[in-house]
Amino acid sequence: DALEIALRVAGIRAGDKVLTTPLSAFATTLAILRAGGTPVFVDVNESGLLDLELAERRLEAKDIRFILPVHLFGHAHDLQALAAMSQKHGAILIEDCAQSILAKSRGALTGSVGLLSATSFYPTKNLGCLGDGGALLTNDEQLAQHAKALRDYGQSSKYLHDRLGLNSRLDELQAAFLISAQLPRLEDWTARRISIAAEYSAGLKGSRFTLPPVPEGSQSVWHLFPILVDSNRDGFLQHLKASGIGGGVHYPHLIPHQDALRGVASETSGSLEKATRFAQFEVSLPIHPFMSVADVERVLETCLAWRG
Ligand SMILES: *Cc1c(COP(=O)(O)O)cnc(C)c1O
Repeated sequence: DALEIALRVAGIRAGDKVLTTPLSAFATTLAILRAGGTPVFVDVNESGLLDLELAERRLEAKDIRFILPVHLFGHAHDLQALAAMSQKHGAILIEDCAQSILAKSRGALTGSVGLLSATSFYPTKNLGCLGDGGALLTNDEQLAQHAKALRDYGQSSKYLHDRLGLNSRLDELQAAFLISAQLPRLEDWTARRISIAAEYSAGLKGSRFTLPPVPEGSQSVWHLFPILVDSNRDGFLQHLKASGIGGGVHYPHLIPHQDALRGVASETSGSLEKATRFAQFEVSLPIHPFMSVADVERVLETCLAWRG
């Protein structure tokens, strides 16, 4: 909802083209479609994030109105590059920060360069509440007022509806829980995620698994820890499961290939070769702040013991 509202307050019109990634939660593209936009999918890079060079090339056609990148896995895109690209091509930048809260690119926080940025408080995110929730970030007061009206049935003041809005309020209980219980712990939790990622990276170095590189300049917050298992991924997931370890896949189906997009206006620019590689071979190892040292060691040992 935050992404949909962001696109709407930024002035999206029916059929406007929105450049985005095929490798994300379906929600990213769903927001574009619900706002009336046409998604334009561009392949990802080795890290699994939107390939900014390919994006730049597609932007040359001058028909793209919005860029909606995702700081996937908790890795920060190069924010300077995003800002420069948005300026050069007159395309409005909206950042999907659902996985990247506190992630930085060369010292700057994700969510700080988009005209608007959205994040999610779904319980599995780095900063989660007890149910569904999210937030929209902007430093433009007018856009903020507009967004506040849209999240509340489009009412600008009580019982006065200027626009067709949504019911996307964050309820007080969730807000209180986030502010009092969760937010004060976010930095420590993030530090723990970073340290687990460092242990995984060191432990899997030189192994049969491919570790996708972290984007240059990214201080990642490791929402997920992706590895590529180039053969028999299902066997590997089974092997983890047999040891009581839950592996994930992010994401098994590319968004443009989902049935819901059949017959819906969208464009795929070039091949989606690298995104397809993630869809076929990616496995997300368990990573969360409550894992003990022993848990992390056991995951590593189990990975290294795989002979499939
Ligand atoms: C989780 C997620 C969303 C959707 O967030 P919800 O709060 O579940 O609607 C959008 N984009 C990305 C990248 C996500 O990981």
